[in-house]
Amino acid sequence: MELKAALKKYFNFEQFRAGQREVIEYVLNKQDVLAVMPTGQGKSLCYQLPAFMLSGTTLVISPLVALMKDQVDSLWAKNLDQVTLINSQIDFIDYQERMTGISQGNYKLVYIAPERLRNSRFIEQLSRIKLDLLVIDEAHCLSQWGHDFRPDYLNIKDFYQNLNYRPTILALTATATPMVQQDILHYLDIPRAKLINSGSDRPNLYMEIIRVDKEKDKLPALRETLKNQRDNGIIYAATRKDSEWLSVWLARHLGIKTACYHAGLNKDERSRVQEDFLGGKINTVVATNAFGMGIDKPNIRFVIHYCLPASLEAYYQEIGRAGRDNLPSRCTLIYAAKDKQLQEWIIDNDVIKRDDLVVFWRALKEYMQNGTSVIPIYHLEEHNLNETKQRLLVSMLERRQLIKLADKDQDNLILEAGVVKATPDIMKEVMAEAEERINFRKEKLNAVVNWINGSSCRREILLNYFGEQKQFKHDNCCDACDRAKRLNLVESTLPIEVLKCVKILTRNVGRSKLADILKGSKAKDIISFSYDKVPCYGQMSSFNRNKIMRLIDSLLGDGYLMQQGSEYPVLMLTEKGKNALENKKTLPVWEDAAPQQEKTAGLID
Ligand code: ADP
Repeated sequence: MELKAALKKYFNFEQFRAGQREVIEYVLNKQDVLAVMPTGQGKSLCYQLPAFMLSGTTLVISPLVALMKDQVDSLWAKNLDQVTLINSQIDFIDYQERMTGISQGNYKLVYIAPERLRNSRFIEQLSRIKLDLLVIDEAHCLSQWGHDFRPDYLNIKDFYQNLNYRPTILALTATATPMVQQDILHYLDIPRAKLINSGSDRPNLYMEIIRVDKEKDKLPALRETLKNQRDNGIIYAATRKDSEWLSVWLARHLGIKTACYHAGLNKDERSRVQEDFLGGKINTVVATNAFGMGIDKPNIRFVIHYCLPASLEAYYQEIGRAGRDNLPSRCTLIYAAKDKQLQEWIIDNDVIKRDDLVVFWRALKEYMQNGTSVIPIYHLEEHNLNETKQRLLVSMLERRQLIKLADKDQDNLILEAGVVKATPDIMKEVMAEAEERINFRKEKLNAVVNWINGSSCRREILLNYFGEQKQFKHDNCCDACDRAKRLNLVESTLPIEVLKCVKILTRNVGRSKLADILKGSKAKDIISFSYDKVPCYGQMSSFNRNKIMRLIDSLLGDGYLMQQGSEYPVLMLTEKGKNALENKKTLPVWEDAAPQQEKTAGLID
């Protein structure tokens, strides 16, 4: 059947959207594909249509239970009912019925969670049927360097390579830097897959950043942003506690119908918030980043970040939930410089302290030495299985120090202590890796902060980060483009003064110390290290310190300066900065960003 006719027959759609036809043609021709498409574009159709056209079964691996259910429901609503899902929420009788149906080839499309692939009995049953197409949704979860690594995704390759035939592989994601794309090809072992990148740009999303100097200024900025706002929206907060008090505050002070959402709520509470939001009972959810994957509410008009996102990938995915109906929507990030420290603290603590890993390691050994041959996964979960501990488990599995057993009831991964040679080497390796990851995550965070501090088009920088170019001119693009319409660039000597100061200091200093030196601060550590003797000391004494800080930040954002070191990052000149120092006497700054001289003497912040 002609593809367009099939589209009409099964889905009653008239046209393919960008990228869809290509992906579908390739997979029907048994070509592996990695497709990168923006949220809301219609990734699901790229496998749903082939699923109904192919003779065998299409298996979709998807990370979120709620997402699967939505997909199955919406297909049933279209009378496409040869579809089912297998996850931990269905009971045993249902499970058996569905497995029987699957093995009889009754389903065209089967959704499973990646955890399923730990279950060897499930895999054994599955290998009896013919899988035409294997789909990996949210494929960025394969990459440890992406923003949502899921170790279970690493089992996918083994799973399909152990089949006695080779299904076609289709990997889908909305956000993948070139490095993450490479990881996806590598970990799925599909080096020759066609790459279809329909671009990540979401032209209907307006992006703005509101910078405030102090933490306490964030709330008034939020109030201002939400003034008269009654549309549907999501507000992201840094911590569970923040999401709770903010939600109460918004209801009380602005009369907004809100609820909070975070991983600390129980399953029922979380589904209730989702349902209330989807059903329109509440119009704003204040959430941690636990919220949102798979939220397919078309008319979300705004996404506000009241916190610093962990990476540009995470940010793009989170704002991607706005405007899925393609109508204009607003994405606001409210930022105070202190936010960065909080995120850094979260990274350090999430990735783990060595002592904690030692305790976990001892517990594992104890299980084994007590003659316990099987360790139910829920025992391990009591140890707060964060990323580093999961890595330790994966390493032990790789070395066959632990062996996976078939799970008897459906939900428990059971580990069997195999030949245990509890060498501390793995621990060392895992710790070293954890440290590497801490640094990596801090680099990701720095990229966000530089993006915030930069003065050129927000969209352009974001797209460049994902290895793309801005394709066309947007009328309603971002705050930086608006500023460029309103204001002039003025040539200023001040940025050069700052760069000069960085150059002549014999000891590298951080942002704050540099601002103190330029301001001419009399603080003890400035005097005791004789910074008051360097030529640039007090050179900007007549300027407000916050403005000096902003100038330094914009030099960072625009790539004249960089920071090095994770605990106490110090400023260094980049090549671009060195070049500017050699060849220029002034640099362009926006007229409102140029530090104003303080009008009244003695009015120091
Ligand atoms: P994504 O997974 O890329 O975020 P979805 O697959 O959930 O997006 O699709 C978003 C919406 O677009 C869905 O409601 C889907 O039915 C609709 N859609 C997909 N393809 C088409 C098309 N060719 N024509 C009309 N609507 C489509």
